[in-house]
Amino acid sequence: MIRLIGSENAGVGLPQAMDLLRNGGSAIAAVEIAIRAVEANADDHSVGLGGYPNILGQVELDAGIMDGRDRTSGAVAALKGYLHPISLARLVMERLPHVFLVGEGAARFAREMEAEAGELLTEPAREVWARRLEQDLAPRKLKEVTDLPDLWRWVEIATDPQRTHGTVNVIARDAQGHICAGVSTSGWAWKYPGRVGDSPIAGAGFYADDRYGAAACTGTGEMAIRAATAHSVIFAMQMGATLLEAGTRAMADLNDLGGRYLAGMNFVAMDRDGNHAGFSSYENATYAHMDASMDAPELLPRTYVAIKQRWERQSSLGNRQ
Ligand code: ASP
Repeated sequence: MIRLIGSENAGVGLPQAMDLLRNGGSAIAAVEIAIRAVEANADDHSVGLGGYPNILGQVELDAGIMDGRDRTSGAVAALKGYLHPISLARLVMERLPHVFLVGEGAARFAREMEAEAGELLTEPAREVWARRLEQDLAPRKLKEVTDLPDLWRWVEIATDPQRTHGTVNVIARDAQGHICAGVSTSGWAWKYPGRVGDSPIAGAGFYADDRYGAAACTGTGEMAIRAATAHSVIFAMQMGATLLEAGTRAMADLNDLGGRYLAGMNFVAMDRDGNHAGFSSYENATYAHMDASMDAPELLPRTYVAIKQRWERQSSLGNRQ
C-alpha cells in the first residue's frame, strides 16, 4: 500500500509525491519531489529558499536520504548557494562511492552535477536575522559580526531553542513496499558557521530499512546525533517492539542525556507494513499523512512523550554587550 508521511510542513509537497507513487514511481523519487517543493517554499524559514541563516547571515543547507531496499544513503551539509540539497543528497547516493559531502566539496559536486544555483537568503529572513542580531549584539554594529573573535559566545546568546527550530521530513512507501526517508533543513537559525545537526546524518536524523521501517526527526539535532534517535526507533522494531513502543522508547532514551543544552524532539515513523505514527515532546503536535485514496494530506496527532528540557547559558555571557 502506497503512503506518505512527513513533518507538518511537508504538506505542500505530498500531493505531487502521491501522484508520482500512484503512477508507479519509486519511494525515492517521491521523497525527492516532496522535499523539493518544501525547499522551494520561501515561506518556510527552516528549509531551502527563505531558510534562516547562520549567525553570519549565510544560509547553509543540510539534507540526507536513505533507500530502505539496501540502506544506501547520501547526504550534503553546510552547502551554500544551491536550491535543492535533497537532489544532491540523492546524487551523492547514486553517483559516488561516498555517503556524505560537506561545505566546499559539496558545492563543487553541485557544480559538476549542474545543480540549480541561487541566492537562498530572502529579504524577510534577512530582516529577522538582522533584528535578532541588532538586539543581541547591541551596541556593536551588525557588520562587525563577521570579524568577532568570540563568535562562539554570541551564538549561545542568539540561539533560542523555542524559536529557531524546523526541518522537513518525508517518508514514502511505494507500490513495491519499498521505503525511503529524506530530510532537508537550513538547520538551527543563527547557528555557528559550519554547524551540522542531525538532519543529514544517517541514523541520527533519518533511517530507512525495508525490513523494519523508517524514521525521520526534527528538533534539537545535537540530541538526535548523540542518541542516534532515528536508528534507535528502527533498532527497537528490529528487536521486536511495535511502532508505538519503538517511538516511545527512542523518545524516552533522550531523558538520560546530560549536558547543558537539552530541548525538544519530534519524529515521524513507519513500520515495514506502512503503519505510521508521529512522536513529539511538544503537546498537541501533528504530522502530515497521505494515502492513495486522499486528494490532500491530513494532519494527525503525534504521540506526546515528555522529555527533560534545560538550557543553561554560561552566566558571564549576559554582561558582554
Ligand atoms: N533538527 C534540525 C537541526 O538540528 C533543526 C530542527 O529540526 O529544528 O538542524
